Amino acid sequence: METLELKEKVHDETRQGEPFAPIAVETDIYKKKFYIESYGCAMNFADSEIVASILSHEGFGATKNFEEADLILVNTCSIREKAEATVRKRLTEFKKAKLAKRGMLVGILGCMAERLKGKLLEEEKLVDLVIGPDAYRTLPALIQEAESGQKGVNVLLSREETYGDISPIRLDSNGVNAFVSIMRGCNNMCSFCVVPFTRGRERSRDTFSIINECSELFKNGYKEVTLLGQNVDSYYWVDEQKDLVVTFAKLLEMVANISPLLRVRFSTSHPKDITDEVLFTMAKYENICKYVHLPVQSGSTRLLQLMNRTYTREWYMAKVDRIKEIMPDCSITSDIIAGFCTETEEDHQDTLSIIEYSKYDMSYMYFYSERPGTLAARRFTDDIPLAVKKRRLDEIVKLQNRLSQRSYSADIGKTFKVLIEGNSRKSEDDWAGKSSQNKVVVFPKADYNLSKGDYVQVKVTNATGATLLGEIVK
Ligand code: SAM
Ligand code: SF4
Repeated sequence: METLELKEKVHDETRQGEPFAPIAVETDIYKKKFYIESYGCAMNFADSEIVASILSHEGFGATKNFEEADLILVNTCSIREKAEATVRKRLTEFKKAKLAKRGMLVGILGCMAERLKGKLLEEEKLVDLVIGPDAYRTLPALIQEAESGQKGVNVLLSREETYGDISPIRLDSNGVNAFVSIMRGCNNMCSFCVVPFTRGRERSRDTFSIINECSELFKNGYKEVTLLGQNVDSYYWVDEQKDLVVTFAKLLEMVANISPLLRVRFSTSHPKDITDEVLFTMAKYENICKYVHLPVQSGSTRLLQLMNRTYTREWYMAKVDRIKEIMPDCSITSDIIAGFCTETEEDHQDTLSIIEYSKYDMSYMYFYSERPGTLAARRFTDDIPLAVKKRRLDEIVKLQNRLSQRSYSADIGKTFKVLIEGNSRKSEDDWAGKSSQNKVVVFPKADYNLSKGDYVQVKVTNATGATLLGEIVK
């Protein structure tokens, strides 16, 4: 049980439920204050930055203290039952704040809003606004309605909305790395997943608005962009006037060409869509990070079929081989689900062996949580007892921890180019940054006159299962 909690934290580690505000909060110039908390995937965190931008045009400035806010927003996740339960619990804390401050509004954004729609207003009496991921432009009108005492709901999904023209306000940024949304929605229909229902059909954002946003970020001192989408490799944008077709590989190349000093990452790749063209583009550009998040979900071909993942065990393993063949130094990470419907011990062993085969540097690991409305919920029985799911997850976690430990230890003695992101969490005398492989590297500042956003060569002298420790080499 302890291990499960530990791993939940690994997933949550970065920012789950973290309050957000821009680095410099110029509250004086704003008439009102909003507080926003985000849960779930990086897409949600990026969406909160779009919401912040929309709100700033309405005279709202961000605060990190929800008690003083005029508007509390919770950007929610529906991917597992637990994610929704966390938000429900949090709402009870906002209830007290709302009672204490007249006129305060509480809004639910994101996937939970989309999944539960008006039902949320009935179930959670304190909620004034319910807004789905494609309806953020209507926030100002809905706030006005809510201010006049009418509850506001807009959960319409769109086939076109990409918020391409909205410049996100970077919230809680370290000024070094930023997320850039390149597409929205998902057409994949993995049977366990609620995302196609909560985020709608897949659509790609205008290439030029992406390039502009990344160039602006670079001009403003950012050194790393992560291109975001549920399935980035199926990015596809056509400019009929210019007779231009942009695939994901082409987009990667265009972003990489902004400057060799701008690092490019992306997430997430569906194994079926990551092409040789993408892999060769990654290999060609030093500034495209050698890191692929390639969720396997299960190692059993039978289960992969039930999950509607459209690849087999062997096909996935060949993809891992191909990545390593084209980029021997590339790090691969994964998402894994334990205890999906009908999973046998043999299927579970197949999952363990594919993890071993793929030698993931890290994985996000979950036990299956049935989501209402998904294909799996309609077609299959959630028949694996919770205790079995947890035991299998525990075995997966232990194996992954061993592999991570092995992978990080194998880096001892090697030198990596590290992008400095800021002080290490433990000491102001140490920098923390990341290697191209997305591994955290911590090292003493020593007498070098370096700053956040600088690149530096670091020789690894020691390692834990999640951090490399090293020293600067001249
Ligand atoms: N689009 C990405 C992909 O296909 O890899 C991931 C999207 S989803 C937000 C992140 C992860 O949550 C999935 O890869 C999967 O492992 C996990 N997940 C999704 N639905 C789940 C469910 N019903 N129960 C447990 N885990 C789930
Ligand atoms: Fe969900 Fe599958 Fe789409 Fe990922 S690819 S968001 S797991 S349906």
